[in-house]
Amino acid sequence: MGIKNIHKTVAGTILTILVIVGAFCLNTTTTSSASDTDQMEVHFIDVGQGDSTLITCGEHAMLIDAGDTSKGTAIQNYLQKQNVKKLDYLILTHPDADHIGGAPVVITKFEIDKVFVSNYEKDNKTYQKLIQALDNKRIKATTPKVGSKYSFGTAEITIIAPNAEYDNPNDASVGVIIQNGDHRFLFAGDAGEDAEQGMLENGIDLSADVYHAGHHGSRTSTSEAFFCAVEPSYAVISCGEGNSYGHPHAQTLNLFRTNGVKVYRTDEQGSIIAVSDGTQLSWNCSPSTTWAAGEPSNSSASASIQEEQKDLPEARTYVCNTNTKKFHEPGCVSVKQMNEKNKQTVTLSREEIIAQGFVPCKNCNP
Ligand SMILES: [Zn+2]
Ligand SMILES: [Zn+2]
Repeated sequence: MGIKNIHKTVAGTILTILVIVGAFCLNTTTTSSASDTDQMEVHFIDVGQGDSTLITCGEHAMLIDAGDTSKGTAIQNYLQKQNVKKLDYLILTHPDADHIGGAPVVITKFEIDKVFVSNYEKDNKTYQKLIQALDNKRIKATTPKVGSKYSFGTAEITIIAPNAEYDNPNDASVGVIIQNGDHRFLFAGDAGEDAEQGMLENGIDLSADVYHAGHHGSRTSTSEAFFCAVEPSYAVISCGEGNSYGHPHAQTLNLFRTNGVKVYRTDEQGSIIAVSDGTQLSWNCSPSTTWAAGEPSNSSASASIQEEQKDLPEARTYVCNTNTKKFHEPGCVSVKQMNEKNKQTVTLSREEIIAQGFVPCKNCNP
């Protein structure tokens, strides 16, 4: 017997021992998880172009993001159908409208223990409405510290982002890993490549079974390095059918496809539900097999301009009184009574009008 063969035999024996030990360990974990772990349900709610995910674990519930402004009531209905009365956590990953728009409805209608927000503040009406809703319920939202852990029934939440202060809201997204038994789910809002780099550098284990695809499957997220660290078996893309950004992008879909990742998407399949009992993971539908990338309206250049514009304060039509220095909604009664020579109709953001020295009318509250 040559040295090579001796090595082979020794290696074979070690391998056999490892397999036996491995099987034993696996068996032990299975038994303990099944009895100690509550069922966790992850509902990727179809909110068109935007994000909103309801997670329940036993009696506990949390919501990550709340879709666009027009989706608040739909989310409220969805939660009520699931018998949710109270949220342990509301995580608003970052202050873009497609993530916080529906939050004021949720905050008003449900009891909420903790609200986590990004360290990025916006200066627009959607953000102000969120702050107002939180103030009304006397809730103090905080930005969680990276590395901190929070219990959620039998599951555990680990904060993985934001790792710095960024000058764009997407990168400032709060990122979390939620682990229940053997299963890990990763959410990082619209975090782009820079923010993903920050998560890679913070040293926290990013591996996850289910990856909520960053930024609606945009090519600006899910960099290869980040993807390799997460190494998911499943990816869920929240995006709207025929959205103007062309989400999900072909590059991201190809990355998933070539790595054997099973993909679910709300634009094709509606609301998607994953259920974990700690050892078994099941889904309410089969993975998507279309691999169809979104098509940006006009060109991809105009889509990225639109994407950029969405981050700017919204410009709207207001009527200013150049004499009283007040500004109004076009339908306000004061506008009808206003002297024509003082009337000035403008299309600007609220912030820009205020910056010009006008104050909002107390009746129409523009
Ligand atoms: Zn978004
Ligand atoms: Zn965003």
